[in-house]
Amino acid sequence: MKYYILFGPPGAGKGTQASAMVQKYNLCHLSTGELLRSEIAAGTPLGLQAKALIEAGSLVPDEVVEGMIEAKFQGTEGVDGFLLDGFPRTIAQAEALDAMLAKTGEAVTAVVSIMIPDAMIHERIAHRATIEGRADDARPEVVENRIRTYHDKTEPLVGFYKETGRYNEIDGVGTIAEVQGRIFDLMDRF
Ligand code: ADP
Repeated sequence: MKYYILFGPPGAGKGTQASAMVQKYNLCHLSTGELLRSEIAAGTPLGLQAKALIEAGSLVPDEVVEGMIEAKFQGTEGVDGFLLDGFPRTIAQAEALDAMLAKTGEAVTAVVSIMIPDAMIHERIAHRATIEGRADDARPEVVENRIRTYHDKTEPLVGFYKETGRYNEIDGVGTIAEVQGRIFDLMDRF
C-alpha cells in the first residue's frame, strides 16, 4: 500500500487537489477534518468533544485523530493506498503514524506539501467561507488561531519529513489545473 501525506497550511487547496489525486491513483481519501465534521453532524460523543475545539481553531487531541485513522486503515479495501489530508498535524501524530505502519512493515511513501504565502491563506479562506459555510472559516480570530497553530505545531513536520527524505514541496500558487499538473508529475515517480 502507498501512504501519501497531503501537507500544507489551511487554505492551501488540499481538499480541492485531493479529489483528483485519489481518482487518478486509486487511493482512499482520509481527511481528518472531514471525518471530524461528520462526527459533529452525527452528534456522536467524539463529535461533541471535537466541536468546541474546532470552532476555536484549536487541534483536537492526538489520540482522537490517531484512533480514527487507524480504524480506517484497517477497514478499507480495494484501494492502492491512502491519501492522508490534515493528518499528521503534530510531531506526536507523525510518530504515531510511523508506529502504526511499522506494525505491518510499511512506511510513509511520500509527503506532498502544497505551499502558499501567508497572505494567500487569508484570501483563500475568506473566499471558501462564502462558498462552504464552515463555522471555523467565518470568524477572523478563529482563522488567525488556525494559522498560528499551523506555524507552531504543524510546520515542524517539514523538518521531520525532510530528515526521512520523503518531503516534496509543490508551489501552490497558480490555477487548480496548474497545481494539479505539478502534483501528478511528482506522484508519477512513486
Ligand atoms: P483546514 O485544512 O482548512 O485547516 P481541516 O478540515 O483539515 O481544515 O481541519 C479542520 C479542523 O479540524 C482543524 O482546525 C482542527 O481543529 C481539526 N483537525 C483536523 N485534523 C486534525 C488533526 N490531525 N489533529 C488535530 N485536529 C485536527
